[in-house]
Amino acid sequence: LDAIVHQLNVHRQQETKRTAAMEKQMQGLSGRLQDMEAESGELRTKLRAAHNRALFDALTGLPNRGAYDERVQQEHLRWRRFGEPLNMLVWDIDHFKLINDRFGHLAGDKAIAIIGRSLASGVRETDFIARYGGEEFVMLLTGADTQAALAVAEGIRVKVKSCGFNSEGKPIPITVSCGISDFRTGDTPEAVFKRADQALYLAKTQGRDRCIIAA
Ligand code: GH3
Ligand code: MG
Ligand code: MG
Repeated sequence: LDAIVHQLNVHRQQETKRTAAMEKQMQGLSGRLQDMEAESGELRTKLRAAHNRALFDALTGLPNRGAYDERVQQEHLRWRRFGEPLNMLVWDIDHFKLINDRFGHLAGDKAIAIIGRSLASGVRETDFIARYGGEEFVMLLTGADTQAALAVAEGIRVKVKSCGFNSEGKPIPITVSCGISDFRTGDTPEAVFKRADQALYLAKTQGRDRCIIAA
C-alpha cells in the first residue's frame, strides 16, 4: 500500500509540474498573441497612411494622378450604364513659368497649393478634382450637360483670379485656362482627355484666362 501511495504522490507531483509548465507556456503564447495583435493594428494604420499618400498629392492635399486614373474608370463605367452626362475639365495655370522665374520655385509651389484649393472649392462633393501633373488639374463633373459645365468652369475661373496669391503682401494676379469635353458614345477616358486638352490648347492660343468647349 505504501508503495502505491508513494507512486501516486510521485505521479501527482509530476502532474503539478507539467500543469505549471503548460500554464507558463500558455501565458507566453497569449503574450505573443497580444504583441502580434498590436503589431497588426500598427501595420493596418501604416497601410492606411501609405494608401492615402499613394492617392493624394502632398503639396495641394488633392487627389493625385493615380487617384484620377481610378476615379475616371469608375465614372466612365457609371456613365456607360446610366447615361447621365459626364464632363471632363482640364485646367492649366497661365504663364506659370513666369511666376517661378519672378518669385522663385517655392512661391510657385505656394501658388499651386492656393490655386488647387481655389479650384477644389468650386466643385460639388459628387464631382472630382485631381492634381494631374505640375500645374495642371483635371475635374470630372457629373450630371451636368456641357453648357452647365461651362458655367461652373467660368465661375471657378473668375474665383481663381482673386484667390489671394501675393508676394510680400502685394497681390499677384494669376489666371487659369480650361478645356472642357463631354463623354460621347464610344469614348474612352483617354479620348475625352485628349479632346479636353485640345480645347485647353485653344484657350491658350486665344489669349488664356478662358474656358473653351471642345468641338
Ligand atoms: P502656359 O500659359 O502656356 O501654360 O505657360 P506656362 O508657363 O504655364 O507653361 P507650361 O504650362 O508649359 O509650364 C509649366 C511650368 O510649371 C513648367 C514648370 O517649371 C512649372 N512647374 C511644374 N510643376 C511645378 C511644381 O510642382 N512647382 C513649381 N514651382 N513649378 C512647377
Ligand atoms: Mg502646363
Ligand atoms: Mg501653364
